[in-house]
Amino acid sequence: MVTNTLNIKNVIFIVILTVVLGCKNDSQRVTPKTQDVNEIKPKESLDTGISENNVQEDVPEPMEIKTEKSKSVDESSWSELTAEDGYTLDIKYATTDNFTKKIIYDCAKCYLRPEAAEKLQAVQLALKEKFGYRIKLFDCFRPRPFQQRLWDIMPDPNYVTPPHKGSMHSRGMAVDLTLVDQSGKELDMGTEFDFFGPEAHQGYNHSDAVKRNRWILKSTMEKHGFGSIRTEWWHYSYKGKSWPLDEWVWECE
Ligand SMILES: [Zn+2]
Repeated sequence: MVTNTLNIKNVIFIVILTVVLGCKNDSQRVTPKTQDVNEIKPKESLDTGISENNVQEDVPEPMEIKTEKSKSVDESSWSELTAEDGYTLDIKYATTDNFTKKIIYDCAKCYLRPEAAEKLQAVQLALKEKFGYRIKLFDCFRPRPFQQRLWDIMPDPNYVTPPHKGSMHSRGMAVDLTLVDQSGKELDMGTEFDFFGPEAHQGYNHSDAVKRNRWILKSTMEKHGFGSIRTEWWHYSYKGKSWPLDEWVWECE
């Protein structure tokens, strides 16, 4: 009888001990989670001005980029395209005028791999000489941390390339662009940049004027080694050597 009572006491003690230790482990597991949530608070510069009441709770906030990783540009890996080279820069992801309605890039810059930049400069010259047109740039190199921001806002592979896969933009080999006339007015390409629908497809049956404008862009780009994709009239990738995905983030003044 005495032995049985002792056994029962032992069992009760072990059960209590297990429960107490179990709770402690749970609380230990919860702590890092709370820290993680604090760490991914968005930077103030990402505030788009939308009042918090209007922000949907189920939309994940963009990850903070550790800017101390930034370093000055390595010119053997990157060429910057600027207004001095004759380009008009309208880098949409540095503004709220993009499909996410949020600022993705800290500032507007256009970098490409040197050989892609060189060929685009040749495209620019050809367009100017033959048609009197210039290039307006919507997007160029997209650092992988910025691709992550896009993905956090729109985690849908139909709209955004998953960061682990990486787009040609994150390799510095793709450029989104349109044509402007001598007065800086955009030519009619049938849709806006980043329009999601069949009207943006290369083969869509637009008016003759739109078809002509697209043909001028496409034929000149292809002549200089850029390839197009079926679904986006504005997107071209340079078909040169393969470059890796890149984490480098340009500095903002
Ligand atoms: Zn693109």
